[in-house]
Amino acid sequence: MKKILAVLLVVGLLVAGCTAKKTVQTLTVGTSADFPPFEFVDEQGKITGFDVELMNAVAEKMGYEVKWENADFAGLIASLQTGKYDAVISGMTITDERKKEVDFSDPYFRSDQSVAVQAGNTSITKQEDLVDKQVGVQLGTTGELLAREIVTKGKVYTYDNPDQAFLDLNTGRIDAVINDLPVTGYFLVQNPDLALKIAFVINTDEYYGIAVQKGNTELLNKINKAIKELRDEGKYAEIYKKWFSVEPTW
Ligand code: GLN
Repeated sequence: MKKILAVLLVVGLLVAGCTAKKTVQTLTVGTSADFPPFEFVDEQGKITGFDVELMNAVAEKMGYEVKWENADFAGLIASLQTGKYDAVISGMTITDERKKEVDFSDPYFRSDQSVAVQAGNTSITKQEDLVDKQVGVQLGTTGELLAREIVTKGKVYTYDNPDQAFLDLNTGRIDAVINDLPVTGYFLVQNPDLALKIAFVINTDEYYGIAVQKGNTELLNKINKAIKELRDEGKYAEIYKKWFSVEPTW
């Protein structure tokens, strides 16, 4: 009996040792890398941006390494639900609708919507001006929901990514693009050759969160703890300043 116990103990220790040596675990994270400066593919073909650096830092704190998966925004939640990803970070606004399908971390970024038009446009200056217009949005976004509320007599055009919408705006195929303000602002700065401008901002006061599968509180708690630590240590501010050139205001 003692011998058996001893053997079991040794086996147990071996197993424990192996597990401990398996150092970093992988966290598979889905994102739609078409949303600079939050997530995009750089010239080297690498997924980078504010969200990417934040998530990498969060994962590092938890002792994980991130395996990035790039997909269209509209499909991210479904793929998270089926277990293709452990988490999603993609400038994703925490909404009541989405909360029925996934769980969100504490908010890590505050955003609003913006309306982009051609630089010479003077007829679109307020929300009512959009009612009968051709308005472009990224499919499955809060911008799309807002456009469908506002554009009752015109038409909403959906695109897989915001860049395609901006290009159609540039050629005049559509009259305006409703999209998250920081992303549209960044796009305009990066593409001065396109004569576009922000006509006005729609204050939606939305907050981005990291999504996990419904009920995965263990992972969620770890993520929230890591976000808090990164904020307390100033690492969040460091990443923020790198991508937005200003101190975090929120
Ligand atoms: N914040 C918007 C949303 O959650 C847009 C996100 C995105 O396009 N990546 O719907």
